Amino acid sequence: MDKKLITTWTVKDVCEGFTFDKNEGKGLFGLNGKLIVQPEYQRNYIYDKGGKDVEVIKSLLKGYPLGLIYFVKNADGMYEVLDGQQRITSFARFVNSTYPFAVSDENDNPRYFDSLNSEEQEKILKTELTIYVCEGTSQEIQEWFEKINIVGEKLTAQELRNAAYHGSFVNLARKIFSNSSNSNMNKWLTYIKGDPKRQEVLERALDWVSDGKIEDYMSIHRNDDNVDEIKNHFDSVMDWISSVFDYTGKEVRGREWGKFYNLYHKNPYDKSYVTKRVNELLADKNVRDNNGIFEYILSGENRPQLLDVRLFEDSIKTAKYAMQTQEAKEKGCSNCPICASSNNSNKTRIWKIEEMDADHVTAWSKGGATDISNCEMLCRQHNQAKGNR
Ligand SMILES: [Zn+2]
Repeated sequence: MDKKLITTWTVKDVCEGFTFDKNEGKGLFGLNGKLIVQPEYQRNYIYDKGGKDVEVIKSLLKGYPLGLIYFVKNADGMYEVLDGQQRITSFARFVNSTYPFAVSDENDNPRYFDSLNSEEQEKILKTELTIYVCEGTSQEIQEWFEKINIVGEKLTAQELRNAAYHGSFVNLARKIFSNSSNSNMNKWLTYIKGDPKRQEVLERALDWVSDGKIEDYMSIHRNDDNVDEIKNHFDSVMDWISSVFDYTGKEVRGREWGKFYNLYHKNPYDKSYVTKRVNELLADKNVRDNNGIFEYILSGENRPQLLDVRLFEDSIKTAKYAMQTQEAKEKGCSNCPICASSNNSNKTRIWKIEEMDADHVTAWSKGGATDISNCEMLCRQHNQAKGNR
């Protein structure tokens, strides 16, 4: 990737031909039309909230540096602001008076650019900016963006991808998945964890349609003029979830629904049975991970490890070990009942407690309790052989 440091462009140069879209709240062009101030993939202008725009002007008046600014140079010779959009929009709005704001002086009098004296105006306009211009592939720009992301406000993984693969596909997809006023957004956020404005709903939609290969998908579809595939897939997943589960409590949020859809959507489920089981498992004190309930049910209720089912407490294990060991010594056999019934050298072996594990006699998934009446100590090997039933 080619990277060049430019220090000769001034505030005046960048403000040349600046246009600001008041409705969308974003700066459009600068540098005499050669600079795209806010590419589609960038966040909206937010410096006007909380007075950061005023701070930019005060810094310029004091001669403080504005910090590094990053541009990408496109193949067509246009520049796009990669980092610095907020600062540029702030000073360009101030200087060009297209959507003016004022800074206050020591006596709290508002001062617009026009009301500054010519020395102050010149000081702002002649400020030289420190701009890195980079040219390269999407991959290179993304990697570089990740690096510069260490300073300044952190961008999310998907914001970085939107920058690297910006184009018609991202623009169209954002209109659906990054739009918090989308009427479906509330329903989507029942199941998806993240902030649509930070591109995290779009990220899930991409993750699902691409089966985890988001970059590949964005690269292939970069210049598509429609987003039908991702939209249809996303809707299918959402419809499927509601067709199986009634429950919409906090536990459903952030589950791997896209993966579940791929694995299980062809299986038939009895919704009233599913609802009953969800409620039973939510109420079961032995279930320590309620988030696992949905995949546990979808996958046929035979993987209790998804639920992190409560294990036997040490006091139960110790008591049961003592009982089994005493009995075994009296009979002259192993204290592991399975070893005891074998025909090898372990038939009479007395295992130490740390060589044994507690097992549910009747499996928890078949209704077995997690108390001493349902506890059996087995040697490690035999316990693992029984596995999770
Ligand atoms: Zn054994």
